[in-house]
Amino acid sequence: MIHSSDRNHRRKKLSQFKHQAGPFIIFFTVLMPTNCVILEQFFFDLKKDSASELINGFLVYLSYAMAMWSYYQSITIKNYTIDKATPNQDNRRIDPLYKNTNSCLQCNKWKPIRTHHCSLCGKCNLKMDHHCPWIHNCVGLRNHRCFYLFTMYMTIGALQYSYASWVYFRYLFRSSNGFFSHQSTFFYIYWFLTSLVLYPVCAMLCFLLVYHTSLIINNQTTLEQMENSQSGNGCCLQNDRPPKSINLFNRGILSNIAWFFNYSYFWFLPFQNIYKQDGTQYPIAPLCTIQDIQIYNPQLQIGQIPDQQFDFDKIDQKYEEYLAIAKQKYKNKRLVLIGKEIQLD
Ligand SMILES: [Zn+2]
Ligand SMILES: [Zn+2]
Repeated sequence: MIHSSDRNHRRKKLSQFKHQAGPFIIFFTVLMPTNCVILEQFFFDLKKDSASELINGFLVYLSYAMAMWSYYQSITIKNYTIDKATPNQDNRRIDPLYKNTNSCLQCNKWKPIRTHHCSLCGKCNLKMDHHCPWIHNCVGLRNHRCFYLFTMYMTIGALQYSYASWVYFRYLFRSSNGFFSHQSTFFYIYWFLTSLVLYPVCAMLCFLLVYHTSLIINNQTTLEQMENSQSGNGCCLQNDRPPKSINLFNRGILSNIAWFFNYSYFWFLPFQNIYKQDGTQYPIAPLCTIQDIQIYNPQLQIGQIPDQQFDFDKIDQKYEEYLAIAKQKYKNKRLVLIGKEIQLD
């Protein structure tokens, strides 16, 4: 008993510390790209032609401004759930995995599908991706796009700095006046320390960008990806191997990307995503994706599967109709979803 209260106390202290450290982490996150932009002003004494200098300068300021705007949006936009009573029944019976009647024990509120409770924020977050100390906030339904654009513009800026820094280093190294004769000593220390931090940060940003791109392509959150990677992918029974979990929300690459950016032509601007469905319902894929059918039946070509268009917003009302189409689509296939066999004939 004492042991568990001790652990609780320690956990509380740690989350308190993380909470208090937030503003400092934000300060250093802003400081880093600001340092790079300041340093890059010194790199411009390379006596290059004006065109390349203009492109260089434009890239530096644009990526900096966009990164800072995305950062501000990521910090300020919250993904908290809305006050609604937990529904007794889920109308979307189309998939046995789609359960939307959970409640959060901490908040005493409805916890819609894809929602998770964040112990650091102390609240439930819609389509929670992860709690990010960099933004002192949770990444979720409404700010995932801003967070993604933040990592994208930071990566562009970091790569730009790394390249410019390397070019300047080479220029000084080859200079006939000697390496240290161009700037003050302070500049060299400042440059060295910034680069020391920036190069590993740049590698980390590249990894983060690639990882989140793969999440967008698969319409997954970090939490879902971690869960799925433990149980594997694909849903059809194959050579009597145990059935694995499926990604319910994967509706195809283009569809996933378009949904992530809220079908906006201005996807590159960090606006808040405001969805039609208030974050309590999510469009889901048909019972099984085309890829799964192909894995199950390698002879089957994509063209042979009837290309049906589904209006996912209307599934609620047209459940029987949808099921009839799904039955037609997957007839003669044996589908197994997490141990439950679905009869489609
Ligand atoms: Zn909660
Ligand atoms: Zn959080």
